[in-house]
Amino acid sequence: MTTLTVTEPIIDARNHIFLFDEAAGRYLDRTTRPSAAVQNRMRTDLGGKGAGLVLMSASGVNVPPGFTIDTEMCRLYYANGGKLPDDFFDVVLEKLSVVEQRLGRKLGDPANPLFVSVRSGAKVSMPGMMDTVLNLGQNDTTVLALAAETGNERFAWDCYRRFIQMYGDVVLGIAKDHFGEILDEVKSRAGVKQDYELSVAALQEVVARYKALYIKVVNAEFPGDVQTQLRTTIEAVFKSWNTERAVKYRKLKDIDHALGTAVTVQSMVFGNMDERSATGVCFTRNPSTGENVFYGEYLVNAQGEDVVAGTRTPNPIAKLGDEMPEVYEELLETRTRLEQFFGDMQDIEFTIQQGRLFILQTRNGARTIASAVRVAVELVREGLISENDAVRRVDASQLDQLLLPSFDAAQVEAARKAGRLLGKGLAASPGAAQGRIVFNPDEAVDLAEAGEKVILVRIETCPDDIHGMHAARGVVTGRGGMTSHAAVVARGMGTPCVSGCEELVIDLVQGTIQARGHLLRKGDELSIDGATGEIFVGALPTREADLPSDYQTLLSWADAVRVLKVRTNADTPEDAARARAFGAEGIGLVRTEHMFFEEARLPVVQAMILADSLAGREAELAKLLPMQREDFIGLFRVMDGLPVTIRLLDPPLHEFLPKWKDLYAEVFALRAQGESHELHEKEALLARVEALHEVNPMMGLRGCRLGLLYPEVNVMQVRAIFEAAIAVQQEGVEVYPEIMIPLVGHVLELRTARKVLEQVAQSVMDEAGVHVPYKFGTMIEVPRAALIAKQLAADAEFFSFGTNDLTQLTCGLSRDDASSFLRPYQDGVEGLNGERTQILTQDPFVVLDRDGVGVLMRLAVMSGRAARSGMKIGICGEHGGEPNSIAFAAELGLDYVSCSPYRTGVARLAAAQAQLLLEERQVQEAFDRR
Ligand code: PEP
Ligand code: MG
Repeated sequence: MTTLTVTEPIIDARNHIFLFDEAAGRYLDRTTRPSAAVQNRMRTDLGGKGAGLVLMSASGVNVPPGFTIDTEMCRLYYANGGKLPDDFFDVVLEKLSVVEQRLGRKLGDPANPLFVSVRSGAKVSMPGMMDTVLNLGQNDTTVLALAAETGNERFAWDCYRRFIQMYGDVVLGIAKDHFGEILDEVKSRAGVKQDYELSVAALQEVVARYKALYIKVVNAEFPGDVQTQLRTTIEAVFKSWNTERAVKYRKLKDIDHALGTAVTVQSMVFGNMDERSATGVCFTRNPSTGENVFYGEYLVNAQGEDVVAGTRTPNPIAKLGDEMPEVYEELLETRTRLEQFFGDMQDIEFTIQQGRLFILQTRNGARTIASAVRVAVELVREGLISENDAVRRVDASQLDQLLLPSFDAAQVEAARKAGRLLGKGLAASPGAAQGRIVFNPDEAVDLAEAGEKVILVRIETCPDDIHGMHAARGVVTGRGGMTSHAAVVARGMGTPCVSGCEELVIDLVQGTIQARGHLLRKGDELSIDGATGEIFVGALPTREADLPSDYQTLLSWADAVRVLKVRTNADTPEDAARARAFGAEGIGLVRTEHMFFEEARLPVVQAMILADSLAGREAELAKLLPMQREDFIGLFRVMDGLPVTIRLLDPPLHEFLPKWKDLYAEVFALRAQGESHELHEKEALLARVEALHEVNPMMGLRGCRLGLLYPEVNVMQVRAIFEAAIAVQQEGVEVYPEIMIPLVGHVLELRTARKVLEQVAQSVMDEAGVHVPYKFGTMIEVPRAALIAKQLAADAEFFSFGTNDLTQLTCGLSRDDASSFLRPYQDGVEGLNGERTQILTQDPFVVLDRDGVGVLMRLAVMSGRAARSGMKIGICGEHGGEPNSIAFAAELGLDYVSCSPYRTGVARLAAAQAQLLLEERQVQEAFDRR
């Protein structure tokens, strides 16, 4: 006798049947939710669906009785070469009889028939990959009983024909199309469009022709014997574990082939039996706002698919209170019960059959981020979950959306339906924006000043587009990845951005965009959603964010947990102040080059680059000094009492100069007009641009290399930093500058730079007779720096991982060009035999590549701290605001992550979640060791 493989149905105190494995004695506790570990075990044994039914039953709500054959039987089936144990079906019938007794119905009974569904369900959800059969138990006799019972012949015959079709398809492999052809033919002869318009006679004809189809295609009769139906269906569901599509799906999703599927046999309940029957879905709270109100809809005399299909308009759930007051009362009680049992907002599917409520499914409800935060905080207040549970629950990566404008979901859906989706690029910087298209950054500024809302569209952006990006409501680029210039800058400013939308054909000269059959011109309206990467034709109204107090509450709980500090990447006092208001604990990166691009400064910077002598350069730098000093004074004041990490000049110099192409065109035009002073100036500029041209500037004269060849630039910057620090210190501001050298790959680069800089720092402090506490450190963004971290630690008091460049240089992926193949890499590239291989699951510029870049980081942390104990180490690349990468930072024991101002909340929450996970892991490891 098979005992371990079929879970035992038992009858609980409320006389509901649910599932229990007696041998293991695991699922008996009916009052409290089983622990996560037990739930996990339940899913392994019973599949997600089976486990869900057990849990629902355990909570005490009314579930259609049934039983689940566990995954062990599936494994056994395959181990025995596709054969079930001899006594298997006897055990199934025995369990079935318990269900039959419970309902007072019998499978195949001519007077009081039971109908069941036979459903697949693995531990991990594999939507649509395996088979399920509904309405099992139908035959020539039971169909009549069902018709008589419901007084609805049409309904009964429709169930019957659906079953014959499903059984034929799933169990006997008769192609769906054969059935479809017959149905279509009967419908067209009857002159109707929808299935439900068919008459009883027409349905009877369909049934007869379906049966004939069996004989024709598989040379066998449709089995009227219900036991045969059940046995063969269960076996077919086991078989469906290994269909080609299921195997492919598991490969793609990395799901273990050995898991096997469970099979749940459950009594059918019908919401379309009569006017006392109904079907509906509901949420225990409002899934878009989180408000604690019952939310949902239902349809009388309907099946689940009628609600989903949208052919009839469902009623709001409250109306059920008028129509079926007793059932509504029970549903309200169910709402509370399920929420308390699962400790979370539930999404519930229910059916009312002849006035009796059955719960078909419950799961944690999908929700907007606003709703997630509110529900989590309120559940803590209601005593259902702990503060740490609340911290664990909210998807940190979405938190920044709360701070930004958004589109109305219904309007977006309508725009999609109306074919207004112009394209989809990378969701580079969240928030929704709408405005008129401009292609030129200067024009963006002019129009914005005139009060227009504009969206700046570029093929790609470069540093001298910054003013345009600032003025624009949103930014779109045709090329570039998640750490391309546009993406980084937009995130820093909190400007919505869709980058790398390669399907847009952008013609800057003509001033047009073409995609998906649309042609847009300068001045046309465009709407972009930087959280989804979608771009729409026309204007979609945006809604401003009003920051809920629950957000602050949740983050205060996160702060109590986390160890990792959160700093911000900010270049202006405004950004810094915003980040501080969002909870930033210092600045982890000031990109000083951003200060050089301001309108008043760019000409001075250009003159400095063009000067052909040291004296000439120093003269220009002297003009920049007071401006830089003011920049730092502003930042120090805002960050009173907190560290400010300032990176010295990083990008290649040509980025400050006009583009060769534009300049060449200007010179060409001027030459045609004859000699002039302007021509000579432009020619000199062109010559300098040509001299500075590099084939691969990202690996060219940039970073610390600049400061070594032109130390006067660094000298000016360090002087500005210390003069500013001294000035604010005298105002009573606590100031902690940390000076950082970029792109170091050799210890002598660092040492040489340091000598110069410390000399300057000392002399400024000596001049003022004041001491400023400061630190000197390096970025780790060249793989070699990570490899020689021990040497670097002798000269650096801190490390900051520039994970953007470190990813670029470790993986050999250009930050600006990789989007063209990173997308197909993630979607899957097609081999010669048509097989798709997903090379990457994530964009390494978004989620830190732990296997590659991470190894270098681990090495750098270990060897850096071995040489300098307790060395302060952080991340200032874009990964510093991404939850998975933040978890890695916590694992490595870093001191902080630094991210754009709007992601500060994301990082605070993610750091807390990482900490909780680490602590759980430690407890588990200690437990395992015992
Ligand atoms: C980095 O490379 O990670 C970094 C922070 O510097 P940037 O993005 O300015 O190159
Ligand atoms: Mg860098």
